[in-house]
Amino acid sequence: MIEKYDKKEGYCKILGHFLTFDYCKTTKKGLPCSKVLDCWFQQFPIEEFISEHYSEEEYKKIFEPPQSKISSLTEILEQAQQRIKENK
Ligand code: SF4
Repeated sequence: MIEKYDKKEGYCKILGHFLTFDYCKTTKKGLPCSKVLDCWFQQFPIEEFISEHYSEEEYKKIFEPPQSKISSLTEILEQAQQRIKENK
């Protein structure tokens, strides 16, 4: 069950406060944060959870190196331009 660990609570070193696993599970465009293995391995079998619930392709997306700020900004601008076109 993919919701099994949703209410587990942990401290997020990036955000600087406690949060629940359901947040971590979807923070990367609906996929888990790339730090999930480091953050959750002491609380439950996170590697097993990831391999049970995500495909190989999703696994690669979860753990791919972060984009540079320039390419992230470019992607955001492209998405904004696309939304503007769709609303015309
Ligand atoms: S998995 Fe990501 S969002 Fe969740 S606690 Fe760790 S760093 Fe924060």
